[in-house]
Order: sequence, then C-alpha cells, then structure tokens
Amino acid sequence: MKLVLLGPPGAGKGTQAASIVEKYNVPHISTGDIFRKNLKEGTKLGLEAKGFMDRGELVPDSLVVDIVIDRLSNDDVVNGYLLDGFPRTVVQAESLNEYLEKNEDSLDFVLNIKVDPNVLVERAVGRRICKNCGATYHVKFNQPKVEGICDKCGGQLYQRADDNEETVANRIKVYMDETSPLIDYYSKKKLLIDIDGQKDIMEVFTDIVRILGE
Ligand code: ADP
Ligand code: AMP
Repeated sequence: MKLVLLGPPGAGKGTQAASIVEKYNVPHISTGDIFRKNLKEGTKLGLEAKGFMDRGELVPDSLVVDIVIDRLSNDDVVNGYLLDGFPRTVVQAESLNEYLEKNEDSLDFVLNIKVDPNVLVERAVGRRICKNCGATYHVKFNQPKVEGICDKCGGQLYQRADDNEETVANRIKVYMDETSPLIDYYSKKKLLIDIDGQKDIMEVFTDIVRILGE
C-alpha cells in the first residue's frame, strides 16, 4: 500500500501515521523527522535545513526531493510506504510522480486530513514528542499518564522548537500558499480522499481503516 498523508501542520498526520504503519506494516517516511534527525546529528543537511525550519518555511525542493527518492529506493518499501509531510509543493509532487511513472508504479491513496484552521495552532503549540521514540502527545487532547513522560518507553517529552505560536502561524500560511494546491492536483488524479480530522484520534483512525480496508 502506497500512501500520502496530506494536511496542514497540526492536522494529525504524524499521530495517524503511527497507527497506520503499525496496522499495515509499511515504513513511515516523514521528511520532517528526517530533517530533525539530521539536525540533532549536526549533519550538513541538518544545518542547511535549520534556518528554514526555524522560520516555519519550506526547505527548498532541491534538498527534499533527492532524499525522498533515495529513501524510496530502499528494499524495505517493497510492500509500500506512508509518506508524511511529502510532497508539500507541486514541484515535489511532480518529482514523485515522475519517479513512480519511471518505475511503472503509482500511489494508492492520498488521505487529506481536514481540520478547521482555528484549532491548528492549539494543536501544534500543545504538541509534545518523546525524545526517545518519537511518540506524539498533546497537553490537553492526548495526555501521557505521567506528565512529561512517554507512556510507551518512559522517555522524556519535549516541545519542538517550531511549535510556538508565531512559527506555527507562518507554517499554516505556507501550507495555504504552497501545499494546499496539492488538493486539486491529487483530486484530478482521482487519488484524494478527505478525512475529517476534527474527530477524536481513535475515530479518525477508524475512518481511515474503513477506507484502507481491514
Ligand atoms: P501533524 O503531523 O499533522 O503536524 P500531529 O499528528 O503531530 O500533526 O498532531 C498535532 C497535535 O495534535 C499533537 O499534539 C496530537 O497529539 C494532537 N492531535 C492529533 N490528532 C488529534 C485529534 N484528532 N484531536 C485532537 N488532537 C489531536
Ligand atoms: P513537519 O515535521 O512535517 O511539521 O515539518 C517540519 C519542517 O520541516 C517544516 O516546517 C519544513 O521546514 C520542513 N519540511 C518537512 N517536510 C518538508 C517538505 N516536504 N518540503 C519542504 N520542507 C519540509
């Protein structure tokens, strides 16, 4: 199964991705996670991406596309994959399309997680992530059993540097300007399926399973 998760920052892509990859046993490819890992390890890519991420801007297509295409050439994607946060521009979508066509391959679904813009800031600013395993929580909507500690592995929770009000507002604007045209792009390709991301986390997942199958 080859999937793309589309949606504004804070829509719930990463949260749903964790459940999807567990159920369908496909690798989770999150470009945001790849950049954060590189940043933590101080690689050249991480340093190049840092300024863009801190400002809530998109990292240039030229840096993003090769990483993803390279990742899609790994052996572990034979049964499919879940792309989370990629593509984010029409140029990225066209590069992915070109790669798929060259390999006589195609995506199965693009799940478009729709959430009212008013709740996005609260969702992103309240997001907490486990330093150790990357699990996502929310200070109000998805609390860990013990404050600041991951239920799954006991790791410490932290807040992403770009999850502050100002940067989130810019990320939402960037989404509207540069990523939302992909809704039209994938709808014309008859791949787009809207998901109501306003529901509870578990209900959203149930809706997704209804689409992807048991
Ligand atoms: P994205 O990957 O789209 O940026 P996340 O999955 O990280 O979004 O979710 C953003 C924040 O909102 C997280 O703190 C998460 O726990 C919370 N969240 C995700 N889905 C829901 C939901 N359906 N209802 C309420 N909060 C949610
Ligand atoms: P995310 O974890 O998906 O919220 O992404 C965090 C940040 O990483 C974004 O605000 C961008 O700066 C950068 N980023 C992640 N994915 C992409 C992408 N596909 N294209 C450009 N920038 C990206």
